[in-house]
Amino acid sequence: MGLLDGKTAIITGAASARGLGKATARLFAEHGARVAILDLDEGAARAAAADLGADHLGLACDVTDLAACRAVAERLTADWGRIDILVNNAGITQPLKSLEIQPAHYDAVLDVNLRGTLYMSQAVIPVMQRARSGSIVNLSSVSAQRGGGIFGGPHYSAAKAGILGLTKAMAREFAPDQIRINAICPGFIATDITGGKLTPEMMSGILAGIPMGRAGEASDVAGCALFLASDLAAYCTGTEVDVNGGSLIH
Ligand code: NAD
Repeated sequence: MGLLDGKTAIITGAASARGLGKATARLFAEHGARVAILDLDEGAARAAAADLGADHLGLACDVTDLAACRAVAERLTADWGRIDILVNNAGITQPLKSLEIQPAHYDAVLDVNLRGTLYMSQAVIPVMQRARSGSIVNLSSVSAQRGGGIFGGPHYSAAKAGILGLTKAMAREFAPDQIRINAICPGFIATDITGGKLTPEMMSGILAGIPMGRAGEASDVAGCALFLASDLAAYCTGTEVDVNGGSLIH
């Protein structure tokens, strides 16, 4: 028996082959959920969904576009009748120092990470409110907690810290509707988000700061997302769960 039997889940930014969203989608599907993979490119989203099996959907959705988020929520509510789980995973990062951040950098990083988390939640929460049930998992980062120093710049730390504030305030607001909202703070996980800009020196510096002595795997984060999305976490809301190999113990 799967932990998510009969449940439906939306995962944003989940087309990236080695990404946290795809690993989470795969684990959710293995646990019985029907999954909608959302990403910028429709073909990539469809291909990623097809990898999981016939029950799953791949849809184009830019999470910075509120109308697009609403259209996806309406489509899935019509198809599935319910949306049990939302994982706000879409995110981008940039390895910039404070004085290098231009307005366009700020807009891009804040918009995808923070605005996108708000918009997709706004689209899905009314459906969850009607069902009086739901679980939202937001991807923050250890960068929010320790002031960066992994890869992303201060604007990324700020966006991910904003996600923690949003998570906690929304958890408080929607707890009476039986909607749980939690955040995951991954440490350094080996995915393609660094876009080839991670140098061997940066890598060895990062590894030196991880007591467990290895980078995280996407499956490490997926396991935490499964716990938070499932009824195992029935009394957890407003939490921030560290998945960082001990790189920040606090
Ligand atoms: P990734 O780059 O592999 O995947 C991110 C996906 O988001 C991509 O498929 C991309 O197309 C999609 N995306 C970008 N902009 C989008 C938009 N506007 N709308 C919809 N989709 C969009 O990244 P990842 O490493 O799997 O990261 C997933 C999440 O985890 C991100 O929020 C990231 O900030 C967070 N995170 C990652 C790490 C890490 O070390 N990899 C650490 C902490 C937090």
